[in-house]
Amino acid sequence: MPSNQVATPNLLIFTDLDGTLLDHHNYSFSPATQAIVLLNTLGIAWIFNTSKTLAELLTLRKTLSNRHPMIVENGGGIAIPEGYDLAPPPALSRAKNSSVRDLTHQGFQLITLGKRRTQILDILKALHTQFTFTGFNDLSVTELAELTGLTKTQTEQAMQRHFSEPIIWQDTEEKFDKFRHRISEHSLDLLRGGRFIHVIGKSDKGIAMRWLTSLYHQARPELKTVALGDGENDIAMLENADFPVIIRSPAHNPPSVQRKNTILTQDYGPNGWSQALHALLKTK
Ligand SMILES: [Mg+2]
Repeated sequence: MPSNQVATPNLLIFTDLDGTLLDHHNYSFSPATQAIVLLNTLGIAWIFNTSKTLAELLTLRKTLSNRHPMIVENGGGIAIPEGYDLAPPPALSRAKNSSVRDLTHQGFQLITLGKRRTQILDILKALHTQFTFTGFNDLSVTELAELTGLTKTQTEQAMQRHFSEPIIWQDTEEKFDKFRHRISEHSLDLLRGGRFIHVIGKSDKGIAMRWLTSLYHQARPELKTVALGDGENDIAMLENADFPVIIRSPAHNPPSVQRKNTILTQDYGPNGWSQALHALLKTK
């Protein structure tokens, strides 16, 4: 390393997107641009940890010059760019879950932490005989676009799923309890989003963050984790980070995080994101 360069700070950063790096109302990241350039210049790995699919992230990743792995579909899986310098995934965790076999997709190695969507769909197909619900897999692009208000392209990207299946519940609340029970018998979990309930394997953003961190730690055990998030589904990630940062939201109260050193930003969304990173990097 040339002597005029500063050493890369020992940080590994995990960030939620909607309401965190992306503005809650208009999805803009522009207040965070300077901080993003800084992370890229310093060579700090910053990792999306989001409910979005791989297909939904590809354009944003390019726009932000992010070249790192991504945790997708609420921790259901991880997409590692082919050729990325990272220790190979541990054999032990694969042996524990025989369903974990690598998939590749658009230049990424996909690691299954929960269950693959194809397995989830098989289980849901069997449950369809007893319960009434509609999943993404039951809908055409046009039907889903009408339901969500997304464009055709956005809808197609949301439908390219690998590790989870969103459903709309159309049965009684009483039967929902039975459904939840049956789902857990199959080692699946339910995650309530807005109008959709996400059926996902036994994983979350925190499990995925810990799993990926262990790969980075093989080469650089000194790395400390930073997690930035604004919502309930970020709690598992925030509570497992060395430096948890709650991004203030204009839409809801901060999630309750049981960690003494948790930072709550003054500013909302990407402004808060930028503020927190500059503070951690001591650049402002
Ligand atoms: Mg969020």
